[in-house]
Amino acid sequence: MLEKSEILSNLNIVKENIENACKRVNRKNDVILVPVTKTFPHELIQTCIDLDIEEVGENRPLEIRDKYELYHEQVKIHMIGHLQTNKIKYIGGKVVLIHSLDSVKLANELNKYALKNDIVFECLVQVNIAKEEAKFGISENNIIEFLKEFEEFENIRIMGLMNMAPFYNNSEDARTDFRRMKTLFESLKNEKFRNAQMKYLSMGMTNDYVVAVEEGSNMVRIGSAIFGTRTYL
Ligand SMILES: *Cc1c(COP(=O)(O)O)cnc(C)c1O
Repeated sequence: MLEKSEILSNLNIVKENIENACKRVNRKNDVILVPVTKTFPHELIQTCIDLDIEEVGENRPLEIRDKYELYHEQVKIHMIGHLQTNKIKYIGGKVVLIHSLDSVKLANELNKYALKNDIVFECLVQVNIAKEEAKFGISENNIIEFLKEFEEFENIRIMGLMNMAPFYNNSEDARTDFRRMKTLFESLKNEKFRNAQMKYLSMGMTNDYVVAVEEGSNMVRIGSAIFGTRTYL
C-alpha cells in the first residue's frame, strides 16, 4: 500500500486533472470523485478518512460488509461492481449508491429485499454502450423499456446511468462511447418515469476519466491513479 503522503499527492493530481478537463470544455466542476478502495485492506479506508475522503467505491459484497462495520460513521460506500442476487443481503442498508443495476431480475430482488427491510436502494443503470459481449449492462436500445419495468419497484430509485468503457490503449478511443452516454443521459431527462431521475452520469476510471469528464461525466470512479496498482488475491 502507498504511503499517506503519496496517496494525497495522487489525489491532488486527479482533482487537478478533473478541474482542468472541466475548464477545457467550459463546464462547471460538479464532478463527484469516488476513490475506489476495492481489494485493498480495510486500513486504507482509515487513510481515506484521514485525508477527508467522504465516499469510496467497492465491488465485493463481503468486503463492503466488513468495511461498513468498521467505518460507516465516517465514510459512505458505493457498490460499483456486478452484484449477484444472493449477495444483496451483505450490502443491504450499507451502500449509498449501487452503480451496477444491470437486469430486471436484480432490480426485482433488490426491491424485495428493500421492501422487507424497509429501506430504499438508490441505483444507477449500467449501460453497455459499446455492446461488449463480456460486459454486464443494459443495451442502449432497451433502456426505456427497462426504466418502464423498474417503475413497479417501489423501493428502488434510479438516479442515473453508469458506463464502463472497454479497455482501450488510447483513452481517446473511449470518447465516442462517453459522448453517446451523455446524449442518452440528456435524452432520458425528457422522459417521465415514476421512480427514475437522471442526476448522476457515472463514467470514467483511471485510464479514461479525463476524456469522460470532457464528455460530461459527473461522477468518476478512480482506483489505481490514487492508490496504486491492486494485487488481486
Ligand atoms: C475497479 C473499478 C474502477 C476503478 O478502476 P481503476 O482503473 O483502478 O481506476 C472503476 N469502476 C469499476 C466498475 C471498477 O470495477
